[in-house]
Amino acid sequence: ESAREAYAEANQESRRHFESACAHMPGGNTRTVLFHSPFPLRIVRGQDARLWDADGHEYVDFLGDFTAGLFGHTNPAIADAVRSALADGISLSGHNRLEARFAARICERFPSVDSVRFTNSGTEANLLAITTAMATTGRRKILVFDGAYHGSLASFAGGSAPTNVPHEWVVGTYNDIDSTSALLDEYGSSLAAVLVEPMLGSGGCVPADQEFLRLLRRRTRESGTLLIFDEVMTSRLAHGGYQSISGLEADLTTLGKYIGGGLSFGAFGGRSDLMSVFDPRQPGSLAHAGTFNNNVLTMSAGLAALDELTPEAADELGTRGDRLRTELNLLCEESGVPMVFTGLGSLMTVHFTDRAVHCGADVRGADQELKELFFFDMLAAGVYLARRGMVALSLTIGSAECRLLFEAVAAFIERRRPVL
Ligand code: PLP
Repeated sequence: ESAREAYAEANQESRRHFESACAHMPGGNTRTVLFHSPFPLRIVRGQDARLWDADGHEYVDFLGDFTAGLFGHTNPAIADAVRSALADGISLSGHNRLEARFAARICERFPSVDSVRFTNSGTEANLLAITTAMATTGRRKILVFDGAYHGSLASFAGGSAPTNVPHEWVVGTYNDIDSTSALLDEYGSSLAAVLVEPMLGSGGCVPADQEFLRLLRRRTRESGTLLIFDEVMTSRLAHGGYQSISGLEADLTTLGKYIGGGLSFGAFGGRSDLMSVFDPRQPGSLAHAGTFNNNVLTMSAGLAALDELTPEAADELGTRGDRLRTELNLLCEESGVPMVFTGLGSLMTVHFTDRAVHCGADVRGADQELKELFFFDMLAAGVYLARRGMVALSLTIGSAECRLLFEAVAAFIERRRPVL
């Protein structure tokens, strides 16, 4: 309670903004994930890795807009790309010169993607990948996993009541080989697709076991089911996405977040024989419209973004994240507190547990109060991260920033030890 009160006291201007926003937006909100009690901060400015709120506090941004902000807030190459697109006009009412170049770059980068279509969000990308699977297999059921987040219309991660688009979902347990095998035995021949995040992202940065993903790859091939990797978050983990780390290729892949350089973006792609159902030259092809699918600002920013995340930059960022997570976990272990940072590379989430973490249920619910305390203490120390304890490093986070986070966590453990 006192952490929350101190927060409210220190953020009067954010409170005022929040109260006036409530007049015309439910809960003053248009992104549920950003809401927290008593009111969320108003961010007024960002530069590189830093953010400033309406009350003038400065933070290091460890949230990186839930992975979309990979390049920091003021990357000059991306800003130039947006300016150069602006110079030729927006809303061009037709195809432009950028979209095919951007598509070619994506296909070159992700080997299992021969052909790609753009959307405005990862949510749409997943819904369209599911549509592709249903259309090409003639089946209706989709196997997903508890704890997964495939966008605001396909969420299995708990929290507020989901607003999922109706589908014949079958919900399995992440990383559980036996129960998943049983579901594949039961439903295999009626499954259009298995849709899986190679690491549960919003569900708590819970990496998949290789054996689990291999099972999905093998069994989907046997039953004529499509395997869809939702790489909206994990595509940043290596130059060619998670698939290039695991050596497993999906039939369809969905992308989003950083690939649009920080602008609205989503894409779905994969084998050309599957994607050709959208070829308007084919009789009976599927329609996929979207006024902003090829908007020049995103196309241009995205081309610049792909140039920025070179293989070396992706590896370096991953190594930085792995090192930070290892150091934080060592700190928790040596301090003897039930706290763990799970994740891969530059993505991680703190959990207040001493159990091993394998699936959505292992990290859901019980530690909400400690997460809130952690969140408020981090803000007070100038560390901005997700209310749920998620960190997504950007390329602008260096060792000095990592040290700030480490010191803030060490101080949290010291101060809050009695309640941990
Ligand atoms: N898929 C995953 C794995 C995500 O993490 C997200 C967003 O957090 C989405 C899909 C949805 O993307 P968007 O927010 O662009 O709709």
